[in-house]
Amino acid sequence: MFRFRRQVYLDNNATTSVTPNVRKKMCAVLKSCYGNPSSRYFVARNAAAVLETARNDLACATGALPDEIIFTGSASEANNQVLKSFLPAADAGRTTIISSPIEHASVIATLEWLKGMGMMVIFCPVDSEGRLDLVRLESLTDERTLLICCMFANNETGVVQDVSQVVEIAKKHGARVLSDCVQALGKLPVDVKALGVDYATFSAHKIHGPKGVGALYVRQGSPLNPLIHGGHQEFGLRAGTEGIHNIAGFAEACKAIPDMLARTAAVAENRDMFIQGVRRIQPDAAINSPSQGGLQNTISVTFSGFDNAGFIAFLDHHGIWVSAGSACNSELNEPSHVLTAMGLSADAARQTLRFSLSSETSRKDIRYTLDILSDYLQKRISPVNMVSPAQLNENLLFSESSFVIDIRSKFDRKILKGLPNSHETSAAALKKLLQHVPRDKNIVVVCQTGIDAPIAAYFLRGEGYKNVGFVMGGIVGWKLFQPGLYNKFGGMNISQLE
Ligand code: PLP
Repeated sequence: MFRFRRQVYLDNNATTSVTPNVRKKMCAVLKSCYGNPSSRYFVARNAAAVLETARNDLACATGALPDEIIFTGSASEANNQVLKSFLPAADAGRTTIISSPIEHASVIATLEWLKGMGMMVIFCPVDSEGRLDLVRLESLTDERTLLICCMFANNETGVVQDVSQVVEIAKKHGARVLSDCVQALGKLPVDVKALGVDYATFSAHKIHGPKGVGALYVRQGSPLNPLIHGGHQEFGLRAGTEGIHNIAGFAEACKAIPDMLARTAAVAENRDMFIQGVRRIQPDAAINSPSQGGLQNTISVTFSGFDNAGFIAFLDHHGIWVSAGSACNSELNEPSHVLTAMGLSADAARQTLRFSLSSETSRKDIRYTLDILSDYLQKRISPVNMVSPAQLNENLLFSESSFVIDIRSKFDRKILKGLPNSHETSAAALKKLLQHVPRDKNIVVVCQTGIDAPIAAYFLRGEGYKNVGFVMGGIVGWKLFQPGLYNKFGGMNISQLE
């Protein structure tokens, strides 16, 4: 139904496309290596061989020894496993974990949980470019420090930390180091031995591998407890039959790392061209990514005065896919903890977009994106209205001048009740039903989570509807922010659009 002039995927830090080689490898493994690697017969031995080859490939790509690699279900799981291993903890007298405040949510949320369990957690400040204050870290670290968490490269801004220095500080005091290397792998040379860390975490889907598989490096002799109990797999440290096809896909993706690293200069050229273009279009745009030494593919930009949720919907409508400062909680538009730790206000964080390129991003993609950004920033095309869940009160819901269109799937409608007086249809059918959509009313489009409605709203705008808006966060957001109204009026007087 909705046609894009061009499709430009600029959210490679959220996830990447799966390469043909990875797909091929995974299909082959699914076809012929379906045995359980823990069984003893031929087809199982095949699966076990795939697993061990993949372990070697991961070790090779990260500088680890094969026995130091544990496959997990994700990097989030791997981060959880390391951190939760320190709970019963505690080496005598060691009670504290120190972390940068700009870690991924799987680290920050786990640390908050550990805090609730009585662990001492300290966040060491970062400077305005997001670099860890090493002088401060030195002064915070002592004989009570169990672990320091410091990611190699940040997913939101691309800032790269001096992990070797962090390790040096930790070692002086007998503390261990966990480094989340998810965003660094494939973009920077990663060698866990050269870094000197005790634990490192990786994720396949950030390097053109499959989703749902991660890897954890545990330096020989470093303590680790299982997070999932119930099997001897992964040296007894991660129970559950291994997803061999995913693991093989991860290993295949690792084989392309040298090629990815060889193409970093070309990616950096596109990044620089993009930044120059942004500066030309919007001279007061603030670039939050570090001026020197950051990841070559990541650009975080604050467009003062432009809320990112509407901006993302506008770009989406034009086939350009980016995310806000933080992919986590983006539906509720929480300000990014990374940007606020760097000193940005909550408002500035909400006006920030992250563009993350890959080696597949072309100069044409960059030029097209700059054109569309320019249309939006110069207000050549006026955006559709954004209705926050808080605005969806009784006045708006029951106003004679409102016309609500619910484009959720049948499946979503079974999960949550719709807005009162709404008209249901599918996004695909909307085009054929325009004669039933009044032109003199305020059209409000709603979907389940706020992701699909903006596209439909922009479609209606394109069809000449002047007053069109969409519900930010969708029904999920409305229920969360207005539970009373949801319970009282949800599902009332719903009709089909016809
Ligand atoms: N760490 C960083 C820096 C990330 O960017 C991500 C993914 O967003 C993760 C960890 C989590 O990876 P996964 O999706 O495998 O859980």
